[in-house]
Amino acid sequence: MLKVGVNGYGTIGKRVADAIRAQPDMSVAGVAKTSPNFEAKVALERGYPLYVVGEDGTDAFGAAGFDLAGTVDELVAESDVVVDATPAGIGAENAELYREHDTPAIFQGGEDADVAEVSFNARSNYEAARGAEYVRVVSCNTTGLSRLFAPILEEYGVEKARVTLVRRGGDPGQTNRGPINDTIPDPVEIPSHHGPDLNTVFPDIEVDTMGMKVPATLMHTHAVNVTLESEADAESVRELLDAESRLYVLPPELDIDGAGKLKEFAQDAGRPRGDCWENCIWGDSVTVEGRDLYLFQAIHQEADVVPENVDAIRAIAGTADRAESMTLTEDALGLDGQIGRSMRDPVPQPPTVTDGGRDDAE
Ligand code: NAD
Repeated sequence: MLKVGVNGYGTIGKRVADAIRAQPDMSVAGVAKTSPNFEAKVALERGYPLYVVGEDGTDAFGAAGFDLAGTVDELVAESDVVVDATPAGIGAENAELYREHDTPAIFQGGEDADVAEVSFNARSNYEAARGAEYVRVVSCNTTGLSRLFAPILEEYGVEKARVTLVRRGGDPGQTNRGPINDTIPDPVEIPSHHGPDLNTVFPDIEVDTMGMKVPATLMHTHAVNVTLESEADAESVRELLDAESRLYVLPPELDIDGAGKLKEFAQDAGRPRGDCWENCIWGDSVTVEGRDLYLFQAIHQEADVVPENVDAIRAIAGTADRAESMTLTEDALGLDGQIGRSMRDPVPQPPTVTDGGRDDAE
Protein backbone atom coordinates (compact mmCIF):
# COMPACT_ATOMS: atom_id res chain seq x y z
CA MET A 1 0.00 0.00 0.00
CA LEU A 2 1.61 3.26 -1.14
CA LYS A 3 1.37 6.14 1.35
CA VAL A 4 0.75 9.38 -0.51
CA GLY A 5 0.94 12.86 0.99
CA VAL A 6 -1.00 15.68 -0.66
CA ASN A 7 0.58 19.10 -0.22
CA GLY A 8 -1.97 21.80 -1.09
CA TYR A 9 -5.60 20.94 -0.53
CA GLY A 10 -7.52 23.18 -2.91
CA THR A 11 -9.40 22.52 -6.15
CA ILE A 12 -7.01 19.85 -7.41
CA GLY A 13 -5.58 18.57 -4.11
CA LYS A 14 -8.94 17.68 -2.55
CA ARG A 15 -10.04 15.79 -5.65
CA VAL A 16 -6.72 13.96 -5.91
CA ALA A 17 -6.91 12.97 -2.22
CA ASP A 18 -10.39 11.45 -2.69
CA ALA A 19 -9.22 9.65 -5.85
CA ILE A 20 -6.21 8.20 -4.02
CA ARG A 21 -8.44 7.01 -1.19
CA ALA A 22 -10.65 5.20 -3.69
CA GLN A 23 -7.69 3.12 -5.03
CA PRO A 24 -7.00 -0.40 -3.75
CA ASP A 25 -3.21 0.04 -3.68
CA MET A 26 -2.65 3.46 -2.10
CA SER A 27 -3.78 5.53 0.86
CA VAL A 28 -3.68 9.18 1.89
CA ALA A 29 -0.90 9.74 4.44
CA GLY A 30 -2.28 13.22 5.08
CA VAL A 31 -2.95 16.58 3.50
CA ALA A 32 -1.04 19.83 4.11
CA LYS A 33 -2.55 23.29 4.25
CA THR A 34 -1.32 26.79 4.99
CA SER A 35 -4.45 28.10 6.72
CA PRO A 36 -7.67 26.84 8.28
CA ASN A 37 -10.78 27.23 6.13
CA PHE A 38 -13.78 25.18 4.96
CA GLU A 39 -11.51 22.83 3.01
CA ALA A 40 -9.50 22.07 6.17
CA LYS A 41 -12.78 21.27 7.92
CA VAL A 42 -13.81 18.93 5.10
CA ALA A 43 -10.37 17.24 5.15
CA LEU A 44 -10.77 16.46 8.85
CA GLU A 45 -14.35 15.29 8.44
CA ARG A 46 -13.16 12.93 5.70
CA GLY A 47 -10.57 11.55 8.08
CA TYR A 48 -7.46 12.93 6.38
CA PRO A 49 -4.70 13.77 8.88
CA LEU A 50 -4.09 17.51 8.55
CA TYR A 51 -0.53 18.90 8.44
CA VAL A 52 0.42 22.55 8.66
CA VAL A 53 2.63 24.52 6.28
CA GLY A 54 4.61 27.42 7.76
CA GLU A 55 5.54 28.51 11.27
CA ASP A 56 2.57 30.81 11.79
CA GLY A 57 -0.06 28.30 10.79
CA THR A 58 -0.12 26.19 13.97
CA ASP A 59 -1.71 28.92 16.10
CA ALA A 60 -4.30 29.73 13.44
CA PHE A 61 -5.38 26.09 13.15
CA GLY A 62 -5.45 25.86 16.97
CA ALA A 63 -7.60 28.98 17.23
CA ALA A 64 -10.00 27.56 14.66
CA GLY A 65 -10.25 24.33 16.64
CA PHE A 66 -8.72 22.16 13.91
CA ASP A 67 -6.51 19.30 15.17
CA LEU A 68 -3.14 19.02 13.44
CA ALA A 69 -1.21 15.78 12.89
CA GLY A 70 2.10 17.61 12.39
CA THR A 71 4.07 19.76 9.97
CA VAL A 72 4.44 19.41 6.22
CA ASP A 73 8.05 18.27 6.81
CA GLU A 74 6.75 15.30 8.79
CA LEU A 75 4.16 14.50 6.12
CA VAL A 76 6.81 14.53 3.38
CA ALA A 77 9.11 12.35 5.51
CA GLU A 78 6.50 9.67 6.07
CA SER A 79 5.08 9.61 2.52
CA ASP A 80 6.26 7.24 -0.22
CA VAL A 81 5.20 9.84 -2.81
CA VAL A 82 3.97 13.42 -2.49
CA VAL A 83 1.46 15.07 -4.80
CA ASP A 84 2.14 18.81 -4.80
CA ALA A 85 -1.12 20.61 -5.59
CA THR A 86 -0.11 24.06 -4.38
CA PRO A 87 -0.75 27.19 -6.50
CA ALA A 88 1.33 27.70 -9.64
CA GLY A 89 4.95 28.55 -8.80
CA ILE A 90 4.82 27.27 -5.20
CA GLY A 91 5.48 23.72 -6.34
CA ALA A 92 8.90 24.70 -7.67
CA GLU A 93 9.66 26.35 -4.32
CA ASN A 94 8.69 23.10 -2.57
CA ALA A 95 11.01 20.97 -4.71
CA GLU A 96 13.86 21.45 -2.23
CA LEU A 97 11.70 20.07 0.61
CA TYR A 98 11.02 16.87 -1.36
CA ARG A 99 14.71 16.55 -2.27
CA GLU A 100 15.75 16.95 1.38
CA HIS A 101 13.54 14.02 2.37
CA ASP A 102 14.36 11.99 -0.73
CA THR A 103 10.61 11.72 -1.41
CA PRO A 104 9.53 11.44 -5.06
CA ALA A 105 7.04 14.14 -6.02
CA ILE A 106 4.37 14.91 -8.58
CA PHE A 107 3.87 18.53 -9.61
CA GLN A 108 0.99 20.17 -11.45
CA GLY A 109 0.71 21.95 -14.77
CA GLY A 110 1.01 25.43 -13.23
CA GLU A 111 4.73 24.74 -12.80
CA ASP A 112 7.26 25.19 -15.58
CA ALA A 113 8.22 21.97 -17.33
CA ASP A 114 11.75 22.04 -15.91
CA VAL A 115 10.42 21.41 -12.37
CA ALA A 116 10.41 17.69 -13.22
CA GLU A 117 12.12 15.14 -15.42
CA VAL A 118 8.93 14.25 -17.27
CA SER A 119 5.78 16.11 -18.34
CA PHE A 120 3.18 13.39 -17.96
CA ASN A 121 -0.04 12.17 -19.53
CA ALA A 122 -0.97 8.56 -18.77
CA ARG A 123 -2.28 7.66 -22.23
CA SER A 124 0.58 9.38 -24.03
CA ASN A 125 3.85 8.76 -22.19
CA TYR A 126 3.28 6.76 -18.98
CA GLU A 127 6.41 4.66 -19.42
CA ALA A 128 8.66 7.76 -19.58
CA ALA A 129 7.72 8.50 -15.97
CA ARG A 130 8.36 4.99 -14.60
CA GLY A 131 10.85 5.21 -11.78
CA ALA A 132 11.36 8.98 -12.20
CA GLU A 133 11.89 11.06 -9.06
CA TYR A 134 9.88 14.09 -10.21
CA VAL A 135 6.97 14.18 -12.64
CA ARG A 136 4.76 17.06 -13.77
CA VAL A 137 1.16 16.22 -14.64
CA VAL A 138 0.48 18.65 -17.49
CA SER A 139 -2.28 21.25 -17.20
CA CYS A 140 -5.98 20.57 -17.69
CA ASN A 141 -5.85 21.90 -21.26
CA THR A 142 -2.67 20.02 -22.18
CA THR A 143 -4.08 16.85 -20.62
CA GLY A 144 -7.18 17.25 -22.79
CA LEU A 145 -5.10 17.81 -25.92
CA SER A 146 -2.67 14.95 -25.18
CA ARG A 147 -5.50 12.44 -24.71
CA LEU A 148 -7.05 13.55 -27.98
CA PHE A 149 -3.87 13.61 -30.04
CA ALA A 150 -2.46 10.27 -28.83
CA PRO A 151 -4.90 8.07 -30.81
CA ILE A 152 -5.09 10.50 -33.76
CA LEU A 153 -1.30 10.44 -34.10
CA GLU A 154 -1.18 6.66 -33.91
CA GLU A 155 -4.00 6.07 -36.40
CA TYR A 156 -3.65 8.87 -38.96
CA GLY A 157 -0.54 10.94 -38.20
CA VAL A 158 -0.72 14.71 -37.80
CA GLU A 159 0.59 17.08 -40.46
CA LYS A 160 -0.50 20.22 -38.61
CA ALA A 161 -2.90 20.99 -35.77
CA ARG A 162 -4.58 24.27 -34.87
CA VAL A 163 -6.53 24.65 -31.65
CA THR A 164 -8.47 27.61 -30.26
CA LEU A 165 -8.94 27.26 -26.53
CA VAL A 166 -11.90 29.12 -25.06
CA ARG A 167 -10.91 29.12 -21.42
CA ARG A 168 -13.06 29.60 -18.36
CA GLY A 169 -12.17 32.81 -16.53
CA GLY A 170 -11.82 31.04 -13.16
CA ASP A 171 -13.00 28.04 -11.17
CA PRO A 172 -16.36 28.37 -9.35
CA GLY A 173 -14.64 29.16 -6.05
CA GLN A 174 -12.18 31.69 -7.49
CA THR A 175 -14.11 34.84 -6.69
CA ASN A 176 -11.01 36.97 -7.37
CA ARG A 177 -10.73 35.91 -11.02
CA GLY A 178 -12.22 37.50 -14.11
CA PRO A 179 -13.22 38.55 -16.68
CA ILE A 180 -16.62 39.54 -15.31
CA ASN A 181 -18.20 40.64 -18.58
CA ASP A 182 -15.71 40.41 -21.41
CA THR A 183 -14.07 38.13 -23.96
CA ILE A 184 -10.31 38.45 -23.84
CA PRO A 185 -7.63 37.08 -26.17
CA ASP A 186 -5.38 35.52 -23.50
CA PRO A 187 -2.56 35.48 -24.16
CA VAL A 188 -2.84 37.92 -27.06
CA GLU A 189 0.43 36.59 -28.49
CA ILE A 190 0.24 33.60 -30.80
CA PRO A 191 0.87 30.79 -30.24
CA SER A 192 -0.42 30.58 -26.69
CA HIS A 193 1.65 28.54 -24.23
CA HIS A 194 -0.61 25.51 -24.78
CA GLY A 195 1.01 24.38 -28.04
CA PRO A 196 4.57 24.42 -26.62
CA ASP A 197 3.22 22.67 -23.52
CA LEU A 198 1.72 19.91 -25.69
CA ASN A 199 5.19 19.58 -27.21
CA THR A 200 6.54 18.63 -23.76
CA VAL A 201 4.46 15.45 -24.15
CA PHE A 202 4.62 15.09 -27.96
CA PRO A 203 7.84 16.85 -29.05
CA ASP A 204 7.25 16.27 -32.77
CA ILE A 205 3.67 17.38 -33.20
CA GLU A 206 3.27 20.60 -35.20
CA VAL A 207 0.59 22.58 -33.42
CA ASP A 208 -0.45 26.24 -33.16
CA THR A 209 -2.76 27.33 -30.36
CA MET A 210 -4.73 30.52 -29.65
CA GLY A 211 -6.19 31.19 -26.20
CA MET A 212 -9.16 33.26 -25.06
CA LYS A 213 -10.77 33.80 -21.67
CA VAL A 214 -14.51 34.19 -21.23
CA PRO A 215 -16.71 34.91 -18.19
CA ALA A 216 -17.49 31.26 -17.43
CA THR A 217 -16.48 28.96 -14.57
CA LEU A 218 -17.64 25.50 -15.59
CA MET A 219 -15.28 24.20 -18.30
CA HIS A 220 -12.90 25.05 -21.13
CA THR A 221 -14.00 24.45 -24.74
CA HIS A 222 -11.51 23.59 -27.49
CA ALA A 223 -12.16 24.15 -31.18
CA VAL A 224 -9.80 21.68 -32.86
CA ASN A 225 -8.67 21.48 -36.49
CA VAL A 226 -6.14 18.83 -37.48
CA THR A 227 -4.70 18.23 -40.93
CA LEU A 228 -4.14 14.49 -40.88
CA GLU A 229 -1.34 12.72 -42.74
CA SER A 230 -3.71 10.12 -44.14
CA GLU A 231 -7.34 10.00 -45.29
CA ALA A 232 -10.11 9.50 -42.74
CA ASP A 233 -13.86 9.70 -42.48
CA ALA A 234 -15.90 11.15 -39.65
CA GLU A 235 -17.45 7.86 -38.52
CA SER A 236 -14.06 6.12 -38.22
CA VAL A 237 -12.68 9.06 -36.24
CA ARG A 238 -15.72 8.96 -33.92
CA GLU A 239 -15.21 5.22 -33.36
CA LEU A 240 -11.48 5.67 -32.76
CA LEU A 241 -12.06 8.36 -30.15
CA ASP A 242 -14.98 6.60 -28.49
CA ALA A 243 -12.82 3.50 -27.94
CA GLU A 244 -10.54 5.56 -25.68
CA SER A 245 -11.40 5.17 -22.00
CA ARG A 246 -10.85 8.86 -21.19
CA LEU A 247 -12.60 10.31 -24.21
CA TYR A 248 -16.37 10.47 -24.29
CA VAL A 249 -17.98 11.12 -27.66
CA LEU A 250 -21.30 12.70 -26.74
CA PRO A 251 -24.18 11.14 -28.64
CA PRO A 252 -26.52 13.77 -30.17
CA GLU A 253 -29.61 12.22 -28.55
CA LEU A 254 -28.41 13.37 -25.11
CA ASP A 255 -29.07 16.93 -26.29
CA ILE A 256 -26.13 18.35 -24.36
CA ASP A 257 -25.44 21.79 -25.79
CA GLY A 258 -22.77 23.06 -23.42
CA ALA A 259 -20.83 22.78 -20.18
CA GLY A 260 -23.88 23.56 -18.03
CA LYS A 261 -25.80 20.48 -19.17
CA LEU A 262 -22.62 18.38 -19.02
CA LYS A 263 -22.13 19.29 -15.36
CA GLU A 264 -25.81 18.65 -14.68
CA PHE A 265 -25.50 15.24 -16.37
CA ALA A 266 -22.44 14.35 -14.29
CA GLN A 267 -24.22 15.41 -11.10
CA ASP A 268 -27.35 13.42 -12.01
CA ALA A 269 -25.13 10.42 -12.75
CA GLY A 270 -23.71 10.57 -9.22
CA ARG A 271 -20.23 11.75 -10.11
CA PRO A 272 -18.49 13.21 -7.02
CA ARG A 273 -18.64 17.03 -7.23
CA GLY A 274 -20.21 16.59 -10.69
CA ASP A 275 -16.74 15.89 -12.06
CA CYS A 276 -16.23 15.02 -15.73
CA TRP A 277 -12.91 13.18 -15.72
CA GLU A 278 -13.15 12.46 -19.45
CA ASN A 279 -12.73 14.85 -22.37
CA CYS A 280 -16.28 15.36 -23.68
CA ILE A 281 -16.28 15.54 -27.49
CA TRP A 282 -19.43 16.57 -29.32
CA GLY A 283 -20.05 13.64 -31.67
CA ASP A 284 -21.93 15.88 -34.12
CA SER A 285 -18.96 18.21 -34.37
CA VAL A 286 -16.58 15.51 -35.63
CA THR A 287 -16.23 16.46 -39.29
CA VAL A 288 -13.70 15.43 -41.92
CA GLU A 289 -13.13 17.34 -45.17
CA GLY A 290 -10.34 15.77 -47.18
CA ARG A 291 -7.60 15.31 -44.61
CA ASP A 292 -8.93 18.09 -42.35
CA LEU A 293 -10.55 16.97 -39.10
CA TYR A 294 -12.65 19.37 -37.02
CA LEU A 295 -14.25 18.92 -33.60
CA PHE A 296 -15.26 20.63 -30.36
CA GLN A 297 -14.39 19.21 -26.94
CA ALA A 298 -15.18 20.31 -23.39
CA ILE A 299 -12.54 19.97 -20.69
CA HIS A 300 -13.58 20.04 -17.04
CA GLN A 301 -10.54 21.86 -15.70
CA GLU A 302 -11.08 20.82 -12.09
CA ALA A 303 -11.34 17.12 -12.90
CA ASP A 304 -9.45 15.81 -15.94
CA VAL A 305 -6.01 15.85 -14.28
CA VAL A 306 -7.25 13.82 -11.28
CA PRO A 307 -6.94 10.30 -12.79
CA GLU A 308 -3.64 11.37 -14.35
CA ASN A 309 -2.24 12.19 -10.89
CA VAL A 310 -3.23 8.73 -9.66
CA ASP A 311 -1.49 7.10 -12.63
CA ALA A 312 1.57 9.31 -12.11
CA ILE A 313 1.84 7.94 -8.55
CA ARG A 314 2.01 4.36 -9.85
CA ALA A 315 4.41 5.34 -12.62
CA ILE A 316 6.79 7.05 -10.20
CA ALA A 317 6.57 4.13 -7.76
CA GLY A 318 6.99 1.61 -10.58
CA THR A 319 4.12 -0.52 -9.28
CA ALA A 320 2.14 -0.98 -12.50
CA ASP A 321 2.45 -0.58 -16.24
CA ARG A 322 0.31 1.85 -18.20
CA ALA A 323 -2.62 -0.44 -18.98
CA GLU A 324 -2.77 -1.87 -15.45
CA SER A 325 -2.64 1.54 -13.85
CA MET A 326 -5.22 3.19 -16.10
CA THR A 327 -7.64 0.30 -15.58
CA LEU A 328 -7.13 0.29 -11.81
CA THR A 329 -7.66 4.05 -11.64
CA GLU A 330 -10.76 3.98 -13.80
CA ASP A 331 -12.37 1.00 -12.05
CA ALA A 332 -11.80 2.52 -8.62
CA LEU A 333 -13.21 5.91 -9.63
CA GLY A 334 -16.07 4.65 -11.76
CA LEU A 335 -14.54 6.47 -14.73
CA ASP A 336 -16.38 4.66 -17.49
CA GLY A 337 -15.74 6.84 -20.53
CA GLN A 338 -19.48 7.36 -20.66
CA ILE A 339 -20.83 9.47 -17.85
CA GLY A 340 -24.34 8.00 -17.93
CA ARG A 341 -23.19 4.44 -17.37
CA SER A 342 -22.43 5.22 -13.74
CA MET A 343 -26.17 5.81 -13.20
CA ARG A 344 -26.67 2.07 -13.40
CA ASP A 345 -23.81 1.47 -10.99
CA PRO A 346 -23.67 4.55 -8.77
CA VAL A 347 -20.22 5.82 -7.84
CA PRO A 348 -19.77 5.83 -4.06
CA GLN A 349 -19.57 9.43 -2.84
CA PRO A 350 -16.64 10.34 -0.61
CA PRO A 351 -17.77 10.16 3.02
CA THR A 352 -18.77 13.53 4.47
CA VAL A 353 -18.16 12.58 8.08
CA THR A 354 -15.25 10.78 9.73
CA ASP A 355 -15.96 7.25 8.75
CA GLY A 356 -13.21 5.17 10.29
CA GLY A 357 -12.03 4.56 6.72
CA ARG A 358 -8.69 3.08 5.89
CA ASP A 359 -6.82 6.42 5.90
CA ASP A 360 -7.60 7.17 9.55
CA ALA A 361 -4.71 5.11 10.84
CA GLU A 362 -2.17 6.61 8.44
P1 NAD B 1 -6.05 26.20 -5.45
O1 NAD B 1 -5.69 27.61 -5.18
O2 NAD B 1 -7.47 25.83 -5.61
O3 NAD B 1 -5.44 25.25 -4.32
C1 NAD B 1 -4.13 25.39 -3.85
C2 NAD B 1 -4.13 25.11 -2.36
O4 NAD B 1 -2.79 25.18 -1.88
C3 NAD B 1 -4.92 26.16 -1.56
O5 NAD B 1 -5.67 25.46 -0.58
C4 NAD B 1 -3.83 27.03 -0.93
O6 NAD B 1 -4.26 27.57 0.29
C5 NAD B 1 -2.76 26.00 -0.69
N1 NAD B 1 -1.41 26.56 -0.57
C6 NAD B 1 -0.95 27.78 -0.88
N2 NAD B 1 0.37 27.87 -0.61
C7 NAD B 1 0.75 26.66 -0.11
C8 NAD B 1 1.98 26.12 0.35
N3 NAD B 1 3.10 26.85 0.37
N4 NAD B 1 1.99 24.85 0.79
C9 NAD B 1 0.87 24.09 0.81
N5 NAD B 1 -0.33 24.56 0.38
C10 NAD B 1 -0.39 25.82 -0.08
O7 NAD B 1 -5.21 25.79 -6.74
P2 NAD B 1 -5.56 24.64 -7.76
O8 NAD B 1 -6.51 25.17 -8.75
O9 NAD B 1 -5.88 23.39 -7.03
O10 NAD B 1 -4.17 24.51 -8.54
C11 NAD B 1 -3.11 23.74 -8.02
C12 NAD B 1 -2.17 23.41 -9.16
O11 NAD B 1 -2.90 22.64 -10.13
C13 NAD B 1 -1.60 24.63 -9.93
O12 NAD B 1 -0.33 24.28 -10.42
C14 NAD B 1 -2.56 24.75 -11.09
O13 NAD B 1 -2.01 25.43 -12.20
C15 NAD B 1 -2.84 23.30 -11.39
N6 NAD B 1 -4.11 23.04 -12.09
C16 NAD B 1 -5.23 23.71 -11.76
C17 NAD B 1 -6.39 23.44 -12.46
C18 NAD B 1 -7.66 24.18 -12.18
O14 NAD B 1 -8.43 24.39 -13.09
N7 NAD B 1 -7.95 24.57 -10.97
C19 NAD B 1 -6.40 22.47 -13.45
C20 NAD B 1 -5.24 21.74 -13.71
C21 NAD B 1 -4.08 22.04 -13.03
